[in-house]
Amino acid sequence: MTSVIEQDMVAGVHYTGTFPDGEVFDSSEGRNALYFLVGHRQMIPGFEEEMMGAAVGEKREFTLTPDRAYGEHDESAVQVVPRGQFPPDIPLEVGVTMAAQTDEGPLPLTITAVDEENVTVDFNHQMAGKTLRFSVEVVEVRAATPEELAHGHVHGPGGHHH
Ligand code: ZN
Repeated sequence: MTSVIEQDMVAGVHYTGTFPDGEVFDSSEGRNALYFLVGHRQMIPGFEEEMMGAAVGEKREFTLTPDRAYGEHDESAVQVVPRGQFPPDIPLEVGVTMAAQTDEGPLPLTITAVDEENVTVDFNHQMAGKTLRFSVEVVEVRAATPEELAHGHVHGPGGHHH
């Protein structure tokens, strides 16, 4: 019986992700395949949904709207902060990413605007609000080991080594 991508399987894929205008934002081309444990929140939800039932050698192309990818862009997660609140060793430039220390742990943010007094920071994921296209080829599908299922991630090639 041919193994296909389904809950609790380990899948290895080569992929290219593009924005609707064709710009490539990520690709496994020239790198190792991406391995993930299916159904354990390692991937954005739409990616797994579109790949369900695919066998080795199968190629799929699909488009994910933000609700199935990294979520909508939340304007309330954009804040204007006085320059003085940043540590002096951090370059205050558009595009710089860092983590704010909060009571709930580090929270990643991106600087999206800078003027003489203030810095605008965006706590949204950098891919929030974006529609993403994927071209995916399945290179391996196998059953997960009990240890992988317990940890919630892939071990060995393409996964965690510990
Ligand atoms: Zn592990």
